[in-house]
Amino acid sequence: MKVFKFGGASVKDAQGVKNVAEIVKQHLAEQPLLVISAMGKTTNALEEVLQAFFKRENNTQELLEKVREYHYSIAETLFPRENPVWDELENLFAELYWAIEETQIKSYDYEYDQIVSVGELLSTRIVAAYFELAGIPVQWLDARDLIRTDDTFREGNIDWEITQKQIHERVGKAKSSNPNVVVITQGFIGATSENFSTTLGREGSDYSAAIFSYCLDASEMVIWKDVPGVLNADPKVFSDATLIEELSYYDAIELAYYGATVIHPKTIKPLQNKSIPLRVKSFVNPQLPGTRISTNDHRNAIPTYIQKNNQVLISISPRDFSFIIEENFKDIFKHISDVRLKVNLMQNSALKFSVCVNDETERLQAFLVEMQKRYIIKYNHNCTLLTVRNYSETLIERLTQHREILVETRSRNTVQMVLRQPNH
Ligand code: ASP
Ligand code: MG
Repeated sequence: MKVFKFGGASVKDAQGVKNVAEIVKQHLAEQPLLVISAMGKTTNALEEVLQAFFKRENNTQELLEKVREYHYSIAETLFPRENPVWDELENLFAELYWAIEETQIKSYDYEYDQIVSVGELLSTRIVAAYFELAGIPVQWLDARDLIRTDDTFREGNIDWEITQKQIHERVGKAKSSNPNVVVITQGFIGATSENFSTTLGREGSDYSAAIFSYCLDASEMVIWKDVPGVLNADPKVFSDATLIEELSYYDAIELAYYGATVIHPKTIKPLQNKSIPLRVKSFVNPQLPGTRISTNDHRNAIPTYIQKNNQVLISISPRDFSFIIEENFKDIFKHISDVRLKVNLMQNSALKFSVCVNDETERLQAFLVEMQKRYIIKYNHNCTLLTVRNYSETLIERLTQHREILVETRSRNTVQMVLRQPNH
């Protein structure tokens, strides 16, 4: 069997849902299990609902109403009024409305997972109901009965033993009466032992698909995307991006780590552990071969450039002009780890430690408040981290033209630069 992952862009409208059904029909012989993300930009929209709820703003309902309208308009195009999917959608929205009425608010990360996880439940209900209509044998499974995590909300750590057992049992049961049934489940979400919903980190559906591939010993995992495969640069930013046909697991991890949004960084390890090949293919042109990522010692020599926006460059200096020494590092890293900031680059000099992190307001604020007690802190929002692998001087020059470089680090293969984001 294979595991297919369909991201938000593939199911962003009714046409997208129909296209997914078409693709799956062509691949029924491979017995795919489908892992699907929330539709379009639903996760962002639910994050906005959550933020409004947290700040107790009075447009919370209105924001949620927009999410409802978006899903209902897709469902209206696909289903007649008597389709049972309407009840399922009603129930999910009832839960969301109920959640934002709640007066006793727990932690941000906890509330995040209870609210934002519903995006995936909605999308998979709609896709499964459409498969049913289109005559594809389908079984919808709740990923919260399959993927067990600890209670690190927003970044659940997988309990592999229980997850493996649950996946075997539930998927096995779904397939026991009809081995050709297409199982549809959610990416991104899981649950704790106490049945609270958890999420695996933004863009975590790829990782979910890798977990399913690992637990079910899939022969291949396929990520269906709106690009033809893994490119050497983001085609939305660089017009000359070209397809990389073959990648090793090693290079794929590096690309993902430096911020290539094409694959979630945690995806490769479970696949690599069982030598399961990963294909990245286009849902727009499904006949194209895409990129194949597998056990090979193919070293990618193509220059690859990755741009990560919304970075904050923080510089930390001791108040008393003492050198940045190990004790200070220990202190700084402890707090980075405590608030779970994501570090993308660091550099130190005698009196200064610079660190480039993702701009995540709550975590960043907590970190800065703590650091300001003991250090002189400066920071720049709106930075871009540009990583160039297999670089040449001419390429660097072309990519950084007229832009101020705030920090730069170099190794033999890789250059990383923090630049000011254009227009800031
Ligand atoms: N829907 C989630 C997100 O947008 C997970 C995913 O798409 O992979 O982050
Ligand atoms: Mg996505």
